[in-house]
Amino acid sequence: MLTKLSTLYKTTSILLKANIVAGRPTNFIRMASSLIKDKAFVNGEWISAKSGATYNVTNPATGEVVGSVPDMGVADTEDAIQKAYKAYQTFKKTTAKERSEKLKKAYKLMMENKEELARIITLENGKPLAEANGEIMYGAGFCEWFAEEGRRVQGHVVASPFPTKKIFTLKQPIGVCAMITPWNFPNAMITRKACAAIAAGCTVVLKPAEDTPLSALAICEIFEQAGIPKGVFNVVTCDRGNAPSVGKLLCESPLVSLISFTGSSAVGKILMKQSADTVKKCSMELGGNAPFIVFDSADLDLAVKGAMSSKFRCTGQTCVCANRFLIQEGIYEKFVARLAEAMDKELKVGNGLTQGTTQGPLINKRAADKVATFVEDAKSKGANVVRGGQRSDVGESFYEPTLLSNVTSGMLVSKEEIFGPVAGVAKFKSEEEAIALANGTSAGLAGYLYTGDCAQQWRVAEALEYGIVGVNEGLFSTPEAPFGGFKESGLGREGGIGFGIEEYLEVKYMCLGGM
Ligand code: NAP
Repeated sequence: MLTKLSTLYKTTSILLKANIVAGRPTNFIRMASSLIKDKAFVNGEWISAKSGATYNVTNPATGEVVGSVPDMGVADTEDAIQKAYKAYQTFKKTTAKERSEKLKKAYKLMMENKEELARIITLENGKPLAEANGEIMYGAGFCEWFAEEGRRVQGHVVASPFPTKKIFTLKQPIGVCAMITPWNFPNAMITRKACAAIAAGCTVVLKPAEDTPLSALAICEIFEQAGIPKGVFNVVTCDRGNAPSVGKLLCESPLVSLISFTGSSAVGKILMKQSADTVKKCSMELGGNAPFIVFDSADLDLAVKGAMSSKFRCTGQTCVCANRFLIQEGIYEKFVARLAEAMDKELKVGNGLTQGTTQGPLINKRAADKVATFVEDAKSKGANVVRGGQRSDVGESFYEPTLLSNVTSGMLVSKEEIFGPVAGVAKFKSEEEAIALANGTSAGLAGYLYTGDCAQQWRVAEALEYGIVGVNEGLFSTPEAPFGGFKESGLGREGGIGFGIEEYLEVKYMCLGGM
């Protein structure tokens, strides 16, 4: 089966490569690759919605339809939960080693099919192919990481204060896990959760984002080929209209033990409220509003390099994207000029399948409309447009990479997540002022600081109310480190040593008497 697939992929790859080298975008993959599915995946079977309804998946760069998937509802989701619950009764009894071997195989398959998986991401999400490749390596990294983490889950034998009793703790899988994921990392946001759950012995019902179901379904194919048993990983696809009712059922079902969500803080709060009646464990990876602080002593080259990678990755649509540039007054003018230069030199707007593109479209027209509103608000409140400042003529979902100076805290670009290619720069005088500005938000996911002063690196990093702090570094995501936020940016951590897998484990205290 695998050999057959790889022959097919080779043919597809050759054709795709030819088109990309020629600089032409292509959507040939939708016809040729068997990793592109048009059915949902429940209990090891590719199925349609009970209603027969489907919806189209479109390429945000071109508006072209790249696939069609079932538009499922409550009855389909209930069925998937039942199947996952049944599968859990046997899967929880498998050994950690068995589960680890399957996840290692999934890692290998994902890496072997890296190019195809990356193209699926670019087709449905729009991000440039190079970034999509990076996402697959990051996403596959969670298969490998949790294959290793799963084998090191441990309980304890505790020193008992009673001569006739022994005290133990056991770690056990929590049960059926519901997952709801966003479109900005359609592969990695799934593997970061699902591989941890599977390594722990749990089963999964996952609802991917409406815009990016194809990557989720491709993961089903990979997991199936890796030998992950039927009913362990189930994907229910639905459009935006059905998402609230499907989400409500996932939160309220007594058969589901945990809800793991990555997305906006607003939706996270709804899911937490809906989970209260069943006292469901909630793992929440929510929105950010990252400060990017540059002190006068900073290495300017390093700061501009970090700013470019943090701000413009995925066209500004990552939860850890720098959202507020806070620059000390002595270096402010130079920083703005150097960032503008770097933007002119390094950013190229276009279709993510075209060679050389660094800035793809936003996920849809609504997202581009939102960015336009934020920029207009900033302009009306006194921001200067240094670069961009308008919609791009490449297509309706595109927005020009934009640099705004003279930004103040009353503007929408400071108060809310921009989720677009807009860098808003504000000036500060003292370290105290920078910390107060940086912490003056309900979000607390990621923050950045650039300074050449070693004591200041520690002092400010400790003072920032953020779950992740990049010190003289703009890129930090890796399976080895815990990912998650303070305040309204979430609950729990994904990845990291001991953190990510713990979300999917219960602790049992066992007291052995009559000794
Ligand atoms: P979103 O609107 O919250 O959507 C995320 C997911 O929730 C999608 O699958 C969406 O389905 C679903 N959803 C929406 N409303 C729902 C409801 N009432 N009940 C159940 N499910 C519902 O967020 P987004 O715009 O896709 O993603 C961007 C946000 O995610 C940003 O705030 C970003 O910071 C955050 N994010 C956080 C992390 C992290 O690790 N902390 C990582 C990535 C992204 P539909 O697609 O059908 O609407």
